[in-house]
Amino acid sequence: MTAVSIHQNHSLVGDFADGTPWPLLTGYGHEHEVLLDGVGLVALAQEFGTPLQVISESEVRERAAEYRRAFAGGAVAYASKAFLTSTMARWMMDEGLDLDVCSGGELALAGAAGVPMDRILMHGNAKSPQELSDAHRSGVGRIVVDSRTEISQLAALGHSGDGHRRQKVLLRVLPGVSGHTHRSVDTGREDQQFGFSLSSGAALEAVRRVLSHSELELAGLHCHIGSQIADPEAYLEAARRMIALMAHIRDVTGVVLPELDLGGGHAVAYRAGDPELAPGPLAAALRETIDRACLVNRFPLPRMTIEPGRAIVARAGVTLYRVITVKRTADGALFVAVDGGMSDNPRPSLYHASYTVRLIGRATHQGAVPATVVGRHCEAGDVLVQDAELPADIRPGDLLVMLCTGAYQHSMASNYNMVRRSPVVSVRGGRAQVLIRRETDDDLMRRDLGLAGN
Ligand SMILES: *Cc1c(COP(=O)(O)O)cnc(C)c1O
Repeated sequence: MTAVSIHQNHSLVGDFADGTPWPLLTGYGHEHEVLLDGVGLVALAQEFGTPLQVISESEVRERAAEYRRAFAGGAVAYASKAFLTSTMARWMMDEGLDLDVCSGGELALAGAAGVPMDRILMHGNAKSPQELSDAHRSGVGRIVVDSRTEISQLAALGHSGDGHRRQKVLLRVLPGVSGHTHRSVDTGREDQQFGFSLSSGAALEAVRRVLSHSELELAGLHCHIGSQIADPEAYLEAARRMIALMAHIRDVTGVVLPELDLGGGHAVAYRAGDPELAPGPLAAALRETIDRACLVNRFPLPRMTIEPGRAIVARAGVTLYRVITVKRTADGALFVAVDGGMSDNPRPSLYHASYTVRLIGRATHQGAVPATVVGRHCEAGDVLVQDAELPADIRPGDLLVMLCTGAYQHSMASNYNMVRRSPVVSVRGGRAQVLIRRETDDDLMRRDLGLAGN
């Protein structure tokens, strides 16, 4: 897919040259309209209101297919916490991906969407006994075990599904590799709450435990070293350590584990110039590293699984906001308040995540000035874009598009301030489809049992 230039709009000039993360199929329409795969964003905002999330189906499918090609011979499990709707799950099935879930809710939705249970992998550092038992009974393909408690709970559930099949499990290992990313998403170090540490011997001890339960089949090892990781070396080092551990497990238990899951976390560019980790080069480097590590350790090549979430959906999505007010403070700072905020995208307040935002829908010949785009919530921390650049004549009623919002936005949305959650519309080949409708007041009040009628 190739991007179409949108040079005619003054405020967007230069975006393609400097790598601003527009979705792949962005183009320029009449009267300052911006087209996403042939569908006008300004028109969508008029039809569905704002805030509105728009996702390019073609781009999601293309990125999924690119992973399939890059990791051919292994498995690619889409991390559904990044963005999950029934339609999204079906796209992933169409493209030959498996599905990663990490809660009973995600599992239920995947099941309702018709995802075959053997293509589902379940994670989580604190799965409840109920979630474990539901996953096990429904025949989930693999459960990633995270603690000793889970091992005994799963074993106590007995054989799964048809009563004969042993539940396949992967063991989550902390390989002690840091992804050098934001602390909240740096999940491979030894000093946090996930999995079993490699260096302390806890991982080997957990392996012995799983092997001692005839109800469980230890299919392999799992690790996930963090998110927004751009340096392939972090993955290569994790892979070397995991292969060495698998060889050690073989040496001391005689068991050859057939699978190695290296998690997700591949970086995407939220702004021009941000580093990304592309699947092709990563897959090639991993293959070479794993080949060599297996040779050195005389270990048979395991089947590799990879779990991208963000890398599949982030850049395919944009969010449209309407400007509500514009304030210039005494010291010259410019605050642009929009009709959404931390309820539809908590990432800036959680991780200080940066985004790119642009004015669309009208002409401007004014130069860009520094601006802070803030949300509508009653918190000083409700900032969507701290260091935006917007045309100097930005005014109420203007339409803003925030780029690279396909991942961890809809899935992290809340009803803070009793704001109705935004719809999600997908576009493909000039047609739009509503994946998730806007929340209504009835939706908001349905669970309040103090109201008549509930
Ligand atoms: C969050 C997560 C992923 C996906 O991370 P991305 O940054 O979206 O690629 C994959 N695997 C596990 C275990 C995770 O927790």
